[in-house]
Amino acid sequence: MSDEKKIPYKIYLEENEMPDSWYNVRADMKNKPAPLLNPGTLNPLTFEEMRGIFCDELCRQELDDTTAYFEIPEEIRKFYKMYRPSPLVRAYCLEEKLQTPAKIYYKFEGNNTSGSHKLNSAIAQAYYAKKQGLKGVTTETGAGQWGTALSMACAYLGLDCQVYMVKCSYEQKPFRREVMRTYGANVTPSPSDTTEVGRKILKEFPGTTGSLGCAISEAVEAATAQEGYRYVLGSVLTQVLLHQSIIGLEAKAAMDKYGIKPDMIIGCAGGGSNLGGLISPFMGEKLRGEADYRFIAVEPASCPSLTRGKYVYDFCDTGKVCPLAKMYTLGSGFMPAPNHAGGLRYHGMSSVLSQLYDDGYMEAVSVEQTSVFKAAQEFARVEGILPAPESSHAIKVAIDEALKCKETGEEKTILFGLTGTGYFDMVAYGRYNDGEMSDYIPTDEELAKGLAGVPKFPGNEI
Ligand SMILES: *Cc1c(COP(=O)(O)O)cnc(C)c1O
Repeated sequence: MSDEKKIPYKIYLEENEMPDSWYNVRADMKNKPAPLLNPGTLNPLTFEEMRGIFCDELCRQELDDTTAYFEIPEEIRKFYKMYRPSPLVRAYCLEEKLQTPAKIYYKFEGNNTSGSHKLNSAIAQAYYAKKQGLKGVTTETGAGQWGTALSMACAYLGLDCQVYMVKCSYEQKPFRREVMRTYGANVTPSPSDTTEVGRKILKEFPGTTGSLGCAISEAVEAATAQEGYRYVLGSVLTQVLLHQSIIGLEAKAAMDKYGIKPDMIIGCAGGGSNLGGLISPFMGEKLRGEADYRFIAVEPASCPSLTRGKYVYDFCDTGKVCPLAKMYTLGSGFMPAPNHAGGLRYHGMSSVLSQLYDDGYMEAVSVEQTSVFKAAQEFARVEGILPAPESSHAIKVAIDEALKCKETGEEKTILFGLTGTGYFDMVAYGRYNDGEMSDYIPTDEELAKGLAGVPKFPGNEI
């Protein structure tokens, strides 16, 4: 007990203790994640094929599964210093509220204007685009966090930023849109008539309010159609996981400083970038046989790619213009039920996390959204921070695990990722507060419809 008293509410790193390299967990994986495939030839995507879409250095990072450490360029470290290190918080107040013997820590990534961890990769991707002498980048955004992060990074570096925003979010989240425009981004509701694929989708599904997969197709087309532009993506890709390893490296350095070893590490999983980044250095130890941890991915019951999806090659986008990725997927045509409010709505999962999960190094659970908002509210009331609905998936399972410790009397140490703040999600909170939020779990038949869209070729049977 006296030992514990020494652990402050917030553990910060000094500037000179900040990581100077990102860690590539693939280097320590025996079973490497499967390569991206060219959808036409079904051969692994080459550097030459990839460089028309992504900038060169990011193609190299995407393809490299053997280099363990990538030095973080000075310019990016400078930018990181504006909002990092992010605090590692000991949730003393939550522990007390729960009356649990568990020790709960969270790594809080919401302390920047974009409100989430996405800025960690946005600045890296914008930096490499700038360094290559490009004019600008295109991307998609769903709820708007990624688009906001990218517009901040582009504004800092003087790059043009074109964002395709899922139409229903564009209409429902005008404040997000205006933050992006304030940072100089050009925001187009998707599907739009500015791209061929957008026009095709609009013709096929008039009145559609869009989806992430559809906005990706438009952003990729916009990048390839304009001279001096490349496409950037906020999650799923292995390069994004690499940049997000800053979260785990900082968390581990802060814990090491006080001799704290987590028993379990919990994170929400949409495309897998924050969870992958948070667990990377700990997973590295597990893969090398140096330490053992439990890793738990938390996903919404309404979009359960790990817990109910299939591990196969699938399209990354609705328009099927992107390479094929081997991942746990619900099918690129899958769309969560309209009542789903908690984000994390991507149909697939990072190929790195998919492989680690398939190899049994990581667990996954799905949770229903009313229980997520209940946990969010409980957390906000004792810890002060208003969490993003996405982050609250991790809170929910951290609380569940802490309550299990209360029953068994075990003093487990729990670390979870608090990826962001929820100020732009108040419509969803409102629905919860009014008792109008419901849960929806897709039936097996509904999931089968999405999975029927998975490409069929030898070795890729469901
Ligand atoms: C985008 C986002 C997520 C989910 O994305 P991952 O790539 O799975 O990390 C989680 N939390 C917040 C706050 C986000 O903005």
